[in-house]
Amino acid sequence: MNIDLSPAELDFQAQVRQFLEEKLPSHYSDRVLKGLYLKKEEYIDWQKTLYQQGWAATNWPVEHGGTGWTPTQKYIWANECAEAGAPDVIPFGMKMVAPVIYTYGNDEQKERFLPDILASNVWWCQGYSEPNAGSDLASLKTTAVRDGDDYLVNGTKTWTTLGHYGDWIFCLVRTGRPEEKNQEAISFLLIDMTTPGITVSPIITLDGHREVNEVHFDNVRVPVANRVGEEGGGWTYAKVLLTHERTGIARVANSKRSLRQLKKLAAETGDGGATLMENPSFAQKITEVEFDLMALEYTELRTLAAVSTGKAPGPESSILKIKGTEVAQAIDELYVEMAGYYSLPFVKEQFEPDFAGEPVGPGMAADSAPHYFNNRKASIYGGSNEIQKNIICKAVLGL
Ligand SMILES: Cc1cc2nc3c(=O)[nH]c(=O)nc-3n(C[C@H](O)[C@H](O)[C@H](O)COP(=O)(O)OP(=O)(O)OC[C@H]3O[C@@H](n4cnc5c(N)ncnc54)[C@H](O)[C@@H]3O)c2cc1C
Repeated sequence: MNIDLSPAELDFQAQVRQFLEEKLPSHYSDRVLKGLYLKKEEYIDWQKTLYQQGWAATNWPVEHGGTGWTPTQKYIWANECAEAGAPDVIPFGMKMVAPVIYTYGNDEQKERFLPDILASNVWWCQGYSEPNAGSDLASLKTTAVRDGDDYLVNGTKTWTTLGHYGDWIFCLVRTGRPEEKNQEAISFLLIDMTTPGITVSPIITLDGHREVNEVHFDNVRVPVANRVGEEGGGWTYAKVLLTHERTGIARVANSKRSLRQLKKLAAETGDGGATLMENPSFAQKITEVEFDLMALEYTELRTLAAVSTGKAPGPESSILKIKGTEVAQAIDELYVEMAGYYSLPFVKEQFEPDFAGEPVGPGMAADSAPHYFNNRKASIYGGSNEIQKNIICKAVLGL
């Protein structure tokens, strides 16, 4: 595969670099590069900057306001953003529900929802998982019972990432009769989070932060007009959305930046008269991760090439998800090893945007353990890695 950039692609890369240099505020990139949190308004502010530039929706078709970039341009964009420390685009609206709406939604839904997603006027969250339906998602129990022009929704969704910021939530709900096959009884609903009967309660994760939530629905009235596609067709749309989600989880560009930063810090970290980078055991671990990351990058490029022909990412996205999260977690582990005892103290406040004190230990030490623990999630969400292996067995290997 030839991955040398053409003159036009080099021009594009220069344009992206100039944009990031001029428009990415350093108080955002400093925090992102240190692995620290941004506020809700800051994510929105950055996404609106992208919108003004016409670069908000890199994965949408041009007719809906997407960039129409080639896979190589998207690859350049992701790498330059990761390198510069640009905040992640929150995926739930732009990368998850939007492709479902522009693919399966009716004209009215496209007109109503897509412009606000594009302009980051509305924060979306994902209501798939339930307390007893994660890997076995089709056994979900939240019901939507028809009542005139509305559905009455009852049930609980869980692990809803940033649901406490959510203006709208897209949900899988059970609309079918109990005797219907699980998958055929599921529909895809768009629900305004301000509707009476919705409560959001926090789940505090191991790093002490509120990132995930439970969302409870108690007789929530949702217009039938907010159902995307056919009643009972939700499972098909949900699966398309998941392939988009999984491809995004690979985060190759972020791992490349993170590994490069790790190598730099290890070359500056003392280790018994030499540096940690000169420690053969540590250097070998870095080299192994580097090889895996390189192989992953080529796999991602092949998937991008397939998507550029108009296909939704297929079951190959499961391979990206598994390897991408394994590589990222291996890098996290090396950060903890490098930080040594500095990874032990946990001062939660130092990860908040308004913390004015000195962080514990040098470089990335303070964040190494919280980040390691937090990122255990990556091999669970978007469908656990074990489930992805089952998908590969069936859909790719035909076993
Ligand atoms: C931080 C975080 C954020 C999340 N955000 C969201 C969100 O915004 N919206 C949302 O809807 N969901 C979200 N999720 C939920 C996520 O998709 C589920 O946690 C995931 O699908 C696994 O489901 P579960 O937690 O119920 O685990 P379970 O399904 O109970 O699985 C438990 C263990 O058993 C294994 N296992 C289960 N079945 C099989 C099998 N058939 N073969 C082999 N192994 C199996 C799993 O791999 C896992 O290790 C999030 C999860 C996390 C951790």
